[in-house]
Amino acid sequence: EKKLGLTGKIVLGMFTGIIAGILFNLWSSPEATPLFHGLVVDGILRIVGEFFITSLMMLVVPLVFVSLIVGTCQLSDPSKLGRLGGKALVLYLVTTCIAISIALTVATIVKPGSNAAFADSFDESVSVAEAPSFVDVVIDMVPRNPINAMAEGNMLQIIVFALLFGIAMALTGKAGDRLKGFFEDVNEVIMKLVMILMKVAPYGVFALLARTFANLGFGELLGDLLKYFLTVLLLLLVHGFVVYPLLLKLLTRLNPIVFIRKMFSNQIFAFSISSSNASIPVTLRTTTKRLGVNNSVSSFTVPLGATINMDGTAIMQGVATVFIAQLYGVDLSFTDYLMVILTATLASIGTAGVPGVGLIMLAMVLQQVGLPIDAIALIMGIDRLLDMTRTAVNITGDAMVTTVIGKSEGQFDESIYNDPEAGNDGS
Ligand code: ASP
Repeated sequence: EKKLGLTGKIVLGMFTGIIAGILFNLWSSPEATPLFHGLVVDGILRIVGEFFITSLMMLVVPLVFVSLIVGTCQLSDPSKLGRLGGKALVLYLVTTCIAISIALTVATIVKPGSNAAFADSFDESVSVAEAPSFVDVVIDMVPRNPINAMAEGNMLQIIVFALLFGIAMALTGKAGDRLKGFFEDVNEVIMKLVMILMKVAPYGVFALLARTFANLGFGELLGDLLKYFLTVLLLLLVHGFVVYPLLLKLLTRLNPIVFIRKMFSNQIFAFSISSSNASIPVTLRTTTKRLGVNNSVSSFTVPLGATINMDGTAIMQGVATVFIAQLYGVDLSFTDYLMVILTATLASIGTAGVPGVGLIMLAMVLQQVGLPIDAIALIMGIDRLLDMTRTAVNITGDAMVTTVIGKSEGQFDESIYNDPEAGNDGS
C-alpha cells in the first residue's frame, strides 16, 4: 500500500470537505434541520475549523519575529539586507502591476457588467474603514512600542523591529552569538509546532471547507453577477497556474511544474482559511523545506509578501472596477486606468492579508476614479469564494518571488527543490 503524503491527505481533505459541504448545503439548513445544522455545521465543524485557524494564527507573530532574527544574523553581511529588501519590493510591486493590468484588459474585453441589470436603488450602504494614506503607512513602519506591535500583529512593524534587532545581534560579538543560539533553538521549536499542526491540517481543511460550502448561497451566483464571478475566477486561475510558473521559469530557469506541484497544498491552506497572514507559518515551511529557499531570505520575504503583495486581490479589484463602471454606464479614461493600477498597488501595501480586506481596499480604488463605493454591496454577497481563491494566488506570488530572490542571492538549495518528497512527510 502506498502511503499518502501530506499533500495527498490535504488534497483529500479539500475534496471531501467541498463535497460534504455541498451535500449539507442541499439537504440541511438552520430552518429545515435545526438539530443537525446546530450540531454538525455550526457545532463540530465550526469547532474543528476555528481551532485550526486560531492555532495557526497563534504561531504567526512569534514565528515571524524569531525566524527573522535568525535569518538576519545568518546573513554574512548586513548590507545585503538593503539589496534583498530592494529586490523584494520591486518584484512585489511589479507582479501586482502585471496582475491588475491583465485584469483591466481582460475585463474591458469581456465586459462583465454590460448585460447586468442595474439595480438603481440599493438600500444597503457600505461602511468601509478608512484606508491609511501611503505616507502614514511609511511613517507607521517603525513601532513606537514593539510589544504593542506584536500584540496587534502589525506585520510591518514586527519586521522592522526584528530586522534591527537581528542586525544589532550580528554586530554584538559574544552576547550576540549566545542569543543567536537561543533564537535558533526557539525557531526550531516553533517550526516543530507548525509541523504538528500540519498533521491535523487535513481535518482542519475538511472542516473549514465543509462549513463554508454548507453556508454558501449558490443562488446569488446566477444571473447578473455570474459573468463577473467567472471572469475573476478564471483570471485568478490563469495567474496562479500560468503567469507565475512562466515568470519563475523566465527569472530562474527552474522547472515550473515542480513549483506548481509543491505549492498545491499550501494553496489549499490559503484557500480554506482565506488569509495570507494566517498562512505565513505554512508558506514559510513550504518555501524553506519544500522549495529549498534558505531561511535568511524566506523569513524576510514571506511575511513581507503576505502583507504587501496581493496580486489576486488586485485582479479582483481591476475586474470589479470595470464591472461597476459598466453598470453605471461610466466610461473609464486611460488616466482612470492608470489611476486604478496605481491605487490598487499602493493600497495593498498597508493592508494586512486577512479575510475580506480586498473589498475595503476596493473602496479606495473606486473613490479614486469617482465611482460610488456603495456598489461594493452588489458584489459582497459572492465575494467569499473569490476571497478564498485570491488568497491562494496571493501566497503563490509570495512564494514565487521568494524563490526568485533566494536563487539570485545564492540562498537556495536546488537539490531540495528537485526532490519531490522533500518536506512532504510532515517532518
Ligand atoms: N483575504 C486576502 C488575503 O489574505 C485579502 C483579500 O481580501 O483580498 O490575502
